[in-house]
Amino acid sequence: MFNRSPGGYSGQRPPKTYDFIPLPDSVIRQKVPGHNLLNADLYTGTLEFFLRTLTPVFVSSGQAALSESLGMNPGGVIQAHYRIGDRIAIPGSSLKGAVRSVAEAVSASCLNITRASHRDLPDAFSIDCTPDAACTACILFGMSGRGREAYSGHVHFHDAILQTGRTRLFRMPALFRPRPESSFYRKPSRKFKGRKFYKHYRPSEDRRGVESEAILPDSLLAGKIEFTNLTESQLGLVFYSMGCGTHIQLKLGGGKPKGLGSLKTEPKRLILSSVEEIFLNDPDKTAISVYENAALIERIQRSIISTKQSKFFLNKQAEELEKLLHFNLDTLEDVPSEVIFRGGKQWR
Ligand SMILES: [Zn+2]
Repeated sequence: MFNRSPGGYSGQRPPKTYDFIPLPDSVIRQKVPGHNLLNADLYTGTLEFFLRTLTPVFVSSGQAALSESLGMNPGGVIQAHYRIGDRIAIPGSSLKGAVRSVAEAVSASCLNITRASHRDLPDAFSIDCTPDAACTACILFGMSGRGREAYSGHVHFHDAILQTGRTRLFRMPALFRPRPESSFYRKPSRKFKGRKFYKHYRPSEDRRGVESEAILPDSLLAGKIEFTNLTESQLGLVFYSMGCGTHIQLKLGGGKPKGLGSLKTEPKRLILSSVEEIFLNDPDKTAISVYENAALIERIQRSIISTKQSKFFLNKQAEELEKLLHFNLDTLEDVPSEVIFRGGKQWR
C-alpha cells in the first residue's frame, strides 16, 4: 500500500506538474437571466465537435474489472475506462468540469470547487454565488450545494463517445496527491496562490503501477453541447474554454500529473437559433443557421472577439492560461521522474 499522506515530506517540495492562475481581486456577479427569458440578442443551439486524444486518456469507470471481460488477456484485474453501454466514452460531467475550470479562470468568476477555507481566499471569493448575484461561470454551468439555491445553468454537456481509436492498458503510477491544506499551495500570507492547472507532458508508465484502460493518443470521440439563451460573449467564453479557436488544450481524467488526459477540441458543426428568429414566425425566414468548416471557424472567432471585449474577461489570466495549457509536441517535456512516489517513503 502506498502512503499518500504528505506528512512525511518535511522540507521537501513535490515536483511541480501544475501551476497557478492568479485570482482577480473581484468577482463580477449579476442576477441570473432565467431559462424562459425571450431576448432578441440571445442564442440557443448546439455545437458538435470531436475530441482528439493527444496523450492517453483515462476516465475511470469507478470499478475494477476482470481483463477477460474487456476482451483482453485473462487473469488480470484492471481499472476499466468509463463506458456508455459497451462503448468507451468521456462523461459529459468530466468535460464540463475541465471546461468550467478554464471559464472560471478567465472570467472573474467564483471558485466553484475548493476545499480552501474562506478565510484564506480574497474577500470576493468568500461569498457564494446565488441566483440574485451569480458569476458568469455559475450562470453558464450552474450552481448547487452548500445549502444554496440551485440553478441548472445554460450549457449541457453530452457524453463524448469513442468513434475511432482504441484502448490499451496503461500502468498508472501511484501518485502523490497534493492537498490544499499543504503549505506549497499558499503564499507566505497564507492566501491561496490561485487556480491550479496541470501542464501537458509526454506521459510515461511505471512498471509497478496499477493497470488502467486508457484511450490511445490520436483517437477521436464525438461530443456535443446544447446551450440556451447565451449572449454572444457568453457563447464565446464557452468556445474559448473548450479550446475552440484558442491555443488551449484541455486536460481531464486520471493521471493528469503523469501526462495523461490531454485533448484537442475540433469543432464540427454549430447550429444557432436566435430567439428573435424563432418568434418572428415568418415562414420565409430561416430561423436556424448552420455553420461548418471555414464559416464555423469564422463564427467561433466572432464570438471570442466579443468575449475578449466583455467586462468579465481577464486578459492577463487568459494569456497565462493559454501558455500553460498549450500542447506543443515540439516542446513537450517528459514528466519529471520524481513525480512517481516510489515505495512509500521518499522522493527521488
Ligand atoms: Zn459563481
